[in-house]
Amino acid sequence: MAANNQTTKTISIDKYGIKNAKVNYQLSAENLHQETLQKGQGKEANSGALAVNTGEFTGRSPMDRFIVKDKITEDKVWWGNINIPFEADKFDALYDKVTNYLSEKEVYVRDSYACADKDYKLNIRVINEYPWSNMFAYNMFLRPTDAELEGFDPEWLIVNAPGFMADAAVDGTRQHNFAILNFEKKIALIGGTGYTGEIKKGIFSALNFILPVFKNTLPMHCSANVGDDGETAIFFGLSGTGKTTLSADPERKLIGDDEHGWTSENTIFNFEGGCYAKVINLSAENEPDIYNAIKPGAILENVVMDENGDVDFADTSVTQNTRVSYPIFHIDNIQEPSVGKNPKNIFFLTADAFGVLPPISKLTPGQAAYHFISGYTAKVAGTEAGVDKPTPSFSACFGAPFMPLHPTKYAEMLSKKMKDAGVTVWLVNTGWTGGPYGVGSRMKLKYTRAMISAAMDGSLEAANKDNYHVHSVFGLNQPRTCPNVPSEVLSPRGTWNNDEGYYETAHKLASSFKTNFKKFEEYANEEIMAGAPLKG
Ligand code: ATP
Ligand code: MN
Repeated sequence: MAANNQTTKTISIDKYGIKNAKVNYQLSAENLHQETLQKGQGKEANSGALAVNTGEFTGRSPMDRFIVKDKITEDKVWWGNINIPFEADKFDALYDKVTNYLSEKEVYVRDSYACADKDYKLNIRVINEYPWSNMFAYNMFLRPTDAELEGFDPEWLIVNAPGFMADAAVDGTRQHNFAILNFEKKIALIGGTGYTGEIKKGIFSALNFILPVFKNTLPMHCSANVGDDGETAIFFGLSGTGKTTLSADPERKLIGDDEHGWTSENTIFNFEGGCYAKVINLSAENEPDIYNAIKPGAILENVVMDENGDVDFADTSVTQNTRVSYPIFHIDNIQEPSVGKNPKNIFFLTADAFGVLPPISKLTPGQAAYHFISGYTAKVAGTEAGVDKPTPSFSACFGAPFMPLHPTKYAEMLSKKMKDAGVTVWLVNTGWTGGPYGVGSRMKLKYTRAMISAAMDGSLEAANKDNYHVHSVFGLNQPRTCPNVPSEVLSPRGTWNNDEGYYETAHKLASSFKTNFKKFEEYANEEIMAGAPLKG
């Protein structure tokens, strides 16, 4: 259970260049919660959860994420506007400035680790300027036992100073905030932003390099759970497509909600020790597991509450990206440790705001590779901007911003693993039905859940054997019937009541797929190219 590591021990961090700091080492979540309140950096919601505002940044800043170009990374990283190079001496200079800034201050230090499979454990020491950021690290990373803490040997170091502002002209950053990975020194340096997601995604990006390059393991931006039958399912998808929501299923044990590795020993494991759920429009009725996880120990981010500590989850005045982090044991039904065997089913989640992709379809191996490399979802403009046109968004491997290697490296590993394991791959549209964003509505969560259950228990396949309908534009195999889902929902065209509009929009999306895929064509074989949309 929860290793609280309440300890009176302290450590010196002078060797990191942080001199004469008042070190709060390994404080319990409870203490960090109280410290945050005392410092006026947060409030308590009536659920008992801590509520904080992350400040200027309420989301990650991909344009300010750098990787130091060094002997380890220079020939391996896929450099460009996703993996932006940073000079090693600029890093050293900036590191000195940040550690200097933290010197003499009160800081929060936590020893933790990533990777739930003991053979892949990555020890991490986190140094935070703020207590709530350190509590986030407690929630999201794995918690060492007291025995593991004895003689803890940190491998990676995270230095997190939200209050430090870089001087772009001098420091080599784009602006005042930055998240920089240094593989030679094994440091993630984060400054100028209080958004906690940078902390977890920094280590995710590091593992996305380390695991495939050194450990023959495929890192994946996916959630995972396991049924009573011991069968694992994994759910890939970009932000907001439903990884966290759909993996929290009372009928199945949660393995993890966002980041996993698939080993060469036919197992998968969670990188993390907690969940980081979106809470926009959260309701106890639709998402009871997540709702009930919001209790003492959880940290709500950027939500709005009244003077009684009642949170209004519909209020997006701070951001649409309101969040809660909690340790995984806040969910009732979890797999311990967070490890599973080869997946039997893989779901690619997409929130298609054009409302043209079928709510579920079964992919051929070629389509699976094509859709993995494409990594499609749609972005809908914030309602406050008054723009209601969705735009297609393609992010290779359903997580390009976190992938230091060329996307085809991950795609090749996934294709091989899927074939070896005999996995069934499904594309699930958790987005719009009955028309595009602005006209139709979001797919009902209970229908998506029913489709996924039916795919997993075999009843979807049994009901449709040899009778999938091939979509005339996307070439996808659409089931005609699904237990507990009205059949009309399964045909997006039918839900539109406007064939002409439907096909026009479907063709447009299909051609966006094709345009996006051009840059990958030279790496793709015939089988993968046959997975492309048929028209467009
Ligand atoms: P991130 O990578 O940012 O953590 P995620 O893939 O985990 O994103 P979720 O946090 O699960 O995404 O967000 C999905 C959001 O969409 C939730 O707010 C959920 O309530 C909402 N939603 C509405 N309808 C559906 C549906 N049919 N399936 C899944 N999610 C839905
Ligand atoms: Mn999530």
